[in-house]
Amino acid sequence: QSHVLSQTDCIIVGSGVAGLSSALRLAKAGWRVTVLEREEIGREASWAGGGILCPLYGWRYPEPVMRLAAAGMAQYRRFTDELSANGHTDPELFTSGMLILDPGSSPAEQSTVSNWATRYGIRHQWQDASQHFPHLSQERALWLPDIETVRNPRLMRALVESVRAAGVDIRAYTPVHGLILDGAQVIGVRTEQGDLFAEHVLITAGAWSGQLVPDPLIPGLSPADIFPVRGQMIRFGAAMHTGLATILMDEGVYLIPRKDGSVVVGSSVEHVGFDKHTTDEAMTRLHRKAVELWPNLAHAPIAQQWAGLRPGTRDEIPYIDAHPEIAGLFVSTGFYRNGLAMAPAVAELITDVMLGRPTQIDLGDYRIDRI
Ligand SMILES: Cc1cc2nc3c(=O)[nH]c(=O)nc-3n(C[C@H](O)[C@H](O)[C@H](O)COP(=O)(O)OP(=O)(O)OC[C@H]3O[C@@H](n4cnc5c(N)ncnc54)[C@H](O)[C@@H]3O)c2cc1C
Repeated sequence: QSHVLSQTDCIIVGSGVAGLSSALRLAKAGWRVTVLEREEIGREASWAGGGILCPLYGWRYPEPVMRLAAAGMAQYRRFTDELSANGHTDPELFTSGMLILDPGSSPAEQSTVSNWATRYGIRHQWQDASQHFPHLSQERALWLPDIETVRNPRLMRALVESVRAAGVDIRAYTPVHGLILDGAQVIGVRTEQGDLFAEHVLITAGAWSGQLVPDPLIPGLSPADIFPVRGQMIRFGAAMHTGLATILMDEGVYLIPRKDGSVVVGSSVEHVGFDKHTTDEAMTRLHRKAVELWPNLAHAPIAQQWAGLRPGTRDEIPYIDAHPEIAGLFVSTGFYRNGLAMAPAVAELITDVMLGRPTQIDLGDYRIDRI
């Protein structure tokens, strides 16, 4: 037990979707929660993402990724209903379906895909793309009619409103520089604004999670364990209605229709460190592919270009765990390309761990000392 008088039961480091959704669960379980964010609230990967609620080419991921994503997908409607209650921002959950034009052409690949869809209860159909879209010629496209998206910047706004309403103290521009330990027990964090104490610290610092603990001997939390993977996106504005109503995906590029008629296109996958600049190259590639897939976009102006840093891990599996060596320290990070889809399930999981309750999903695959 900490000998320090704490103002809060739990300090959460990072205000992305992982931090805020966990803050909501812990606050609703009766804990006093403080979220510390080094920059603006919720403006990193969780803001930058596309908001597709299903791993892209999900059959290519390790099973623990798909298991967690499927658990998240199954509860999204409930999650967004909870967030948008009380007049809060609507995260715009939208069942647009997704047409994947290059799911694999061999019978073996197609049976892998069908098995994957069946296993996770994802309705699917093999289609000749030209039936619905005369300009597309792929004969064995994969249609997933139930795939949903959220407008993630709005999801983040709804989360902020909901955690504040639940009594959570969120502090922007408060970077955490390190943990305060008492032997093998965490008792707080050092911030630019001074030390803050709590019996529990949860690290949800996204791609930066490996920078927080200087001791490289602590497993799972070194810069080699968690690292940034840049993704660039463009958005065509809403002014020109292009008629796109479903997600189209080909050769790693996806087009996402928003309810207001704008179209988000992503994304690059780049290992360039903590660099969020955008490049002309990525813009050109995304633009060219977008127009090829949806020719109505040819004359639509690009309203925005941006980049975000996904929290990568070496095996693409997140870390969700109580730290094996430091009591009171918890980690929920490394969500790479699927952190939005996984969020509600992960928040439930880490909350159960922190409250000492049995977990719905076995933690084994997500342990920080697994590698
Ligand atoms: C281009 C792109 C497209 C994507 N598309 C999708 C998609 O379609 N579907 C999907 O499910 N996922 C998608 N993702 C992935 C998803 O966005 C991430 O997995 C998820 O947002 C990670 O959430 P997080 O809370 O762990 O990290 P973040 O949202 O990055 O939040 C971490 C926060 O911690 C803060 N922080 C860091 N260090 C400190 C410190 N020392 N002190 C205080 N605060 C700190 C950061 O400033 C940041 O706000 C995409 C990502 C990108 C970049």
